[in-house]
Amino acid sequence: MEQIVTRFPPSPSGYLHVGNARTAIFNWLYARHMNGRFVLRIEDTDARRSTQASVDVIFDALQWLNIDWDEGPYFQTQRFDIYNEYLQKMIDSGHAYYCTCSPEQIDVMRRQAMASGEKPRYDGTCREKGLKKTENAVVRFKAPLTGTTVVEDVIKGNIVFQNDELDDFVICRSDGTPTYNFVVVVDDITMNINTILRGDDHVMNTPKQILLYRALQAPLPTFGHVPMVLGSDRSRLSKRHGAMSVTAYRDMGFLPEALVNYLVRLGWSHGDQEFFTRDELIRVFDLKNIGRSAGIFDPEKLLALNAEHIKATSPVNLVAPLTPFLKEFNVEIKEDDYIRKVIETLAPRSKTLQEMAQAAVFYYLEDITYEEKAARKFFKPAALTPLKLLTEKLAALASYSQENLEDVFKHVMDQTGLKLGKIAQPVRVALTGRTASPGIFEIIAILGPERVIPRLEKAIRFIEVNLDK
Ligand code: GLU
Ligand code: ZN
Repeated sequence: MEQIVTRFPPSPSGYLHVGNARTAIFNWLYARHMNGRFVLRIEDTDARRSTQASVDVIFDALQWLNIDWDEGPYFQTQRFDIYNEYLQKMIDSGHAYYCTCSPEQIDVMRRQAMASGEKPRYDGTCREKGLKKTENAVVRFKAPLTGTTVVEDVIKGNIVFQNDELDDFVICRSDGTPTYNFVVVVDDITMNINTILRGDDHVMNTPKQILLYRALQAPLPTFGHVPMVLGSDRSRLSKRHGAMSVTAYRDMGFLPEALVNYLVRLGWSHGDQEFFTRDELIRVFDLKNIGRSAGIFDPEKLLALNAEHIKATSPVNLVAPLTPFLKEFNVEIKEDDYIRKVIETLAPRSKTLQEMAQAAVFYYLEDITYEEKAARKFFKPAALTPLKLLTEKLAALASYSQENLEDVFKHVMDQTGLKLGKIAQPVRVALTGRTASPGIFEIIAILGPERVIPRLEKAIRFIEVNLDK
């Protein structure tokens, strides 16, 4: 079988929309699954929107998602010679012709068609005239007047279009620039693309493109039109449903694995499995399980999946993605054993990297500030005795093994007659400033005597000072 070649052809718009990212991921996964190739092409012919910055955003987003390409990026603005060559082929073979009708004439045709209840269309005035190229002439495709064009869609099944619904559409404007459907077809032919998965907002273009393939005597690719991603109210996914851009999810602390997993599941299924690693997706992704109905974007579900991916990622691999979030809390870290242990305690309880960074701050702070409610509730005079006893014993302890720590707490419980909770909560507030944290033995072991003892002493002073007041 011929090697599968897929592509992703974004039009730069200032960000990469999660819906478009999903199409990119489908094409990439299919290429990887089939040992094929994945081509990146930038459709940058709209000069107003296609700034360098909006192109860079796409590269940035794809790199973050870990979507790599085997060929490209191609830029349409660098390919006008190729488009002109194919335009000439179309004219030479009689599949296209020059049209010199003025905008006013076109307007009259339009109004006449509408008046007789038909779709506005070009009436073929220049079709058989054999006009030469002149200034202001456009090039039109000589479309078939009868019959049907069938899109054999691997997702939607056959879609039949009546050819008399299509008119002789323009393939090159009077200023010499080729039109969208024409350049897409020339690109896909010359890049040997044989599988096209794209949003079903493009399905109306496909019959036109098929006719162009035929005119250029090129083999048709496999087409699959993927249903749109919708918001919770079933309208097209937009800003009011949440963040739209891929990099916004990076900035909120999502893992690329989670976003990829979520977006793929939004339009494809493998039984009822929800969690997939990237390798697993590559192994099992196929076209036949792409869904026919629209996917509803659910931020809560994405969040839950992110938590699962954080849990499933080994702490070493979370250090780099977590680092920028810690910086935002003024925490600079070294890639050492300490941060890996910190992550190990927080991974099971963090939905995002942002959350994890916030929860990690106490591990690094020199000076703990106590949450007011926590201090009021747990820094009571009754806490003094156990805190002092504990400090004394912990200072004398050679190693903070789980066993040793359990022993020390047990002694303090015996001597004071207090339950573990009564001792652990003031300790937790002393060490973290808060009432919620990973397990008390865990954090003591990680913080170590050099942090634990001063923090306990500070809490004791805090309680004593307040006693005097
Ligand atoms: N540039 C088009 C888009 O971003 C791609 C269309 C296609 O896949 O053919 O929607
Ligand atoms: Zn004309």
